[in-house]
Amino acid sequence: MTQIGFIGLGNMGLPMARNLMKAGHAVTGYDVDHGMTDRFATAGGVAATALDMACMGAEVIVTMLPAGKDVREVYLGRGGVLASAQQGALLIDASTVDIETTRVVAAAAQVNELAMVDAPVSGGVAGAEAGTLAFMVGGSDRAVARAQPFLAAMGKTIVHAGGPGHGQAVKICNNMILGVSMIAVSEAFLLAEKLGIDPQKLFDIASQASGQCWAMTHCCPVPGPVPSSAANRDYRAGFSAAMMLKDLKLAQEAAKTAGATVPIGAAAAALYRLFVEDGSAEMDFSGIITFLRGPQEANETPDDEQAARVPETEVANN
Ligand code: NAD
Repeated sequence: MTQIGFIGLGNMGLPMARNLMKAGHAVTGYDVDHGMTDRFATAGGVAATALDMACMGAEVIVTMLPAGKDVREVYLGRGGVLASAQQGALLIDASTVDIETTRVVAAAAQVNELAMVDAPVSGGVAGAEAGTLAFMVGGSDRAVARAQPFLAAMGKTIVHAGGPGHGQAVKICNNMILGVSMIAVSEAFLLAEKLGIDPQKLFDIASQASGQCWAMTHCCPVPGPVPSSAANRDYRAGFSAAMMLKDLKLAQEAAKTAGATVPIGAAAAALYRLFVEDGSAEMDFSGIITFLRGPQEANETPDDEQAARVPETEVANN
């Protein structure tokens, strides 16, 4: 049994922390939102009322936080993880954040002689609950080997992508594929609708043909073909549009820094930004189909006007 501190007990963090407990570990959890910490206590965990309390005596500290600024604050801030972790502790950041934040925090951890891996995940809330997440891990061989049994308690697939920040790099490339493919799948179902095709028929064929992809077979944006998809529950997230936009923006930032050409990724980021600004930040990311469908009268909009919904400057700048 290992003493674990878990920070960030939201949609993903709570079920992940629960799976660590199921594997026999003693987990002390902390969330800045005390309602979340209470939920964790109800689930059988030990609730900490302050961040440093969750770190105290922990051999392993796991974080699952919304964004880069939260990760910097939690690790580098006063009374944060680096200041509070015991000597020799292993740090696992499973949040999806920018590569720069990951590298800055990993370097600071090294100065403090603490082992650290970035281990962002794929698989969503369902994967977090079932313990079937895929982890994309960045860090030294030694740190990744130490993290392995704890990641295995929360996931099914663990891939060592390379040094610090490489887990994040793989994650944002993966999610750029997901964002782009969700838009492509949505457009195909909307076109089929206009052509008078039964969506179930399109699904039955495309899910077995060359159009097959995860966005379609796990998160089908129309109700019916995939019973567990958010389309069957009014697009309640799931993986929110705001989170998808965050990941697509991270991919754009990384592409700019690396000098990579990603025009379709840029168009996807622009469309998700419009969708989020339309008041849909909390909707599941597959709800983009409702935005692409537009109001009824927009169905008759000429093609060139529809194309103008994606701001040209934004695509060109990226
Ligand atoms: P969430 O907003 O549900 O949970 C994040 C939690 O962190 C919240 O409870 C929040 O109160 C807490 N928090 C924020 N700042 C904190 C601080 N300073 N100290 C302690 N707690 C703090 O988000 P989520 O859906 O659980 O996602 C977490 C991370 O996982 C994100 O980086 C996201 O991109 C990534 N992710 C999410 C999914 C998904 O399907 N939701 C899938 C893959 C990856």
